[in-house]
Amino acid sequence: MTDKISTPLKTKELIEKYGFYFKKNFGQNFLIDSNVLSNIVSAAEIQKDDFVLEIGPGIGSLTQYLAESAGYVTAIEIDKNLIPILSETMNGYDNFEVINEDVLKLDINALIAENGNGKKAKLVANLPYYITTPIIMEILEKHADIKSMTVMVQKEVALRMLAKPKSKDYGALTAAVQFYCDAKLDFIVKPNCFMPRPKVDSAVITLTIKDKPISVKNQEFMFKIIKCAFGQRRKTLLNSLYNQGGFGLSKDELALILKNMDLDSRVRGEELSVEQFAYLSDSIYEKINYK
Ligand code: SAM
Repeated sequence: MTDKISTPLKTKELIEKYGFYFKKNFGQNFLIDSNVLSNIVSAAEIQKDDFVLEIGPGIGSLTQYLAESAGYVTAIEIDKNLIPILSETMNGYDNFEVINEDVLKLDINALIAENGNGKKAKLVANLPYYITTPIIMEILEKHADIKSMTVMVQKEVALRMLAKPKSKDYGALTAAVQFYCDAKLDFIVKPNCFMPRPKVDSAVITLTIKDKPISVKNQEFMFKIIKCAFGQRRKTLLNSLYNQGGFGLSKDELALILKNMDLDSRVRGEELSVEQFAYLSDSIYEKINYK
């Protein structure tokens, strides 16, 4: 097994040896703190028979820890200049492979089916921040065969995913994440744990996919309502639904639906829980279809 590379000195030595330059446009901030790395593996509750998918292994700092705890690790890395470095740092781990691809262009389910031995994957990653939301949304909306995601994201984005109704961070992203997952904050990570240092604090969160998703007649329709509700935060939910929804219902009909849910006609979108959005969606959907 190769020595651990997650120290500032070893990381620096490696990137100098290979003449590697950090690319800002790929969100390259490598972890150099061994405590953070072992805490990520603990938060993900990695077991010896787990199949782990890592997005963006970089030079392999987290990958080494994952390969030591998991059954098998498949990593997806966009930057071809990192592949030779990974060959060195992952030398000796026979339960690891890297795919040199853009994760957003890959068929994740096909990849899991090929490598997972019939198992769902655990996704563990220090995500490139410029595509955090597209990656997470792609996985949720395509119903990828993933059990849980333990991911490092910008603290501000983590707070939005974990937000409670009526808070300033609660929005369309919160509703989408909490519709599909149970979300928990694992810990906060300071900029000095990375090379180079990002400008903002980061957070590790675990999103566990719900076994039983919230029941709703038409998911796509519900997300349309959620988007409409958060489109103009200063407007009441009633005005947003009436002006932007395009449901063909009168304001009185929409107000009655809210009243039947014990909601005031002046309620704003950010005051509704995900369960209430599902109920609202079903009520509007039924009203339209049985009109
Ligand atoms: N896991 C390493 C660590 O913790 O030190 C590196 C994390 S770094 C924040 C993000 C990594 O994602 C980089 O290695 C970057 O090249 C890679 N990356 C960026 N965009 C990607 C994409 N679209 N598909 C796959 N990997 C990507």
